Amino acid sequence: MKEKLSPSRRQFLKMGSAAIVMIPAVAVSGNVMAATNSQMRTAMKYQDKPNGEKKCATCIQFVPGKTASSAGGCKIFPGDTEISPHGYCVAWAAKPK
Ligand code: SF4
Repeated sequence: MKEKLSPSRRQFLKMGSAAIVMIPAVAVSGNVMAATNSQMRTAMKYQDKPNGEKKCATCIQFVPGKTASSAGGCKIFPGDTEISPHGYCVAWAAKPK
């Protein structure tokens, strides 16, 4: 007898298959593909330049890249790996000293 898969179980299995396909691509290339979250960038008015003294490198939400000058991420921009340490958006909040 064949068991019918529910739509949610079928979708879960598809997502798992996609994840397995992605693993070798990351392992072979040695780095994760760069990505931006354009919807969040637009909503938060992100720009690649600072706003006075306010910049991503001094924001509590910033996730630094490999070096101080390389692109990193932002805790409120899911999936975006191209946040400039010199960038800025309206959600800027000072990092505690
Ligand atoms: S919240 Fe805005 S200013 Fe702060 S790190 Fe993220 S993108 Fe940069």
